[in-house]
Amino acid sequence: DIRPLIAGNWKMHGTAREAAQLAEAVRAGAGAVTARCDLLVCPPFVHIHAASAAIAWQPIAVGAQDCSPHAKGAHTGDVSAPMLVDAGCAYVILGHSERRADHGETDAQVRAKTEAAIAAGLIPVVCVGESEAQRDAGEAESVVAAQLAGSLPDGFAAAKGVVAYEPVWAIGTGRTPTEADIRAMHARMRAEVTGRFGPAGGTTRLLYGGSVKPSNAAAILALPDVDGALVGGASLVAGDFLAIAAAV
Ligand code: 13P
Repeated sequence: DIRPLIAGNWKMHGTAREAAQLAEAVRAGAGAVTARCDLLVCPPFVHIHAASAAIAWQPIAVGAQDCSPHAKGAHTGDVSAPMLVDAGCAYVILGHSERRADHGETDAQVRAKTEAAIAAGLIPVVCVGESEAQRDAGEAESVVAAQLAGSLPDGFAAAKGVVAYEPVWAIGTGRTPTEADIRAMHARMRAEVTGRFGPAGGTTRLLYGGSVKPSNAAAILALPDVDGALVGGASLVAGDFLAIAAAV
């Protein structure tokens, strides 16, 4: 059985004080849900210390939202995977569609970052997902399959890497794919990871992300091959984040 992962991507929100308060509120309510799932919160870089100090409790992991492909060196403004480990991170989100859009990150760059994360001992959460135009053109599954092929390094499944399917048009919009479409995409992703990685791909956690909220979480999380959620907006409200986790 795959242990579900409920992950919060806090994106670029809040002060250090607010991050500590949110982390503390998640910690305070987590006892009711951590028997059934793993919890992960991913603050902005500058709030990682504040959040992890506020949590200080093993069942809730802390992650970052990006890392450099390089371990160290002259790379102004970047943060390396070993630095994230040192700051208390166990995970890192990579290849989020907002980074692919804002910073032009390619599959090859995401793969290099994922390799760096694994080398440092972090668990990567690699994001994939089609645009609305690609879905309308009937290309959603082939786009995602190509992103997986290009973004995941060979050691991915063995390193317990996580995949997050986030259709770009569902992020922050309140819109989600139909249950049938989520089911079909997750079945395709399972086939891709088992085809590439063998039995290890059978236990790769496949998260759904994009407008997950307490009201739709139970239906989405009950779908086959949906092993958790990557939550944006709703993860900024501790009660909503915990309600999503309680729906596992
Ligand atoms: P929302 O939950 O706000 O749609 O964001 C999803 C997301 O991008 C998580 O990484």
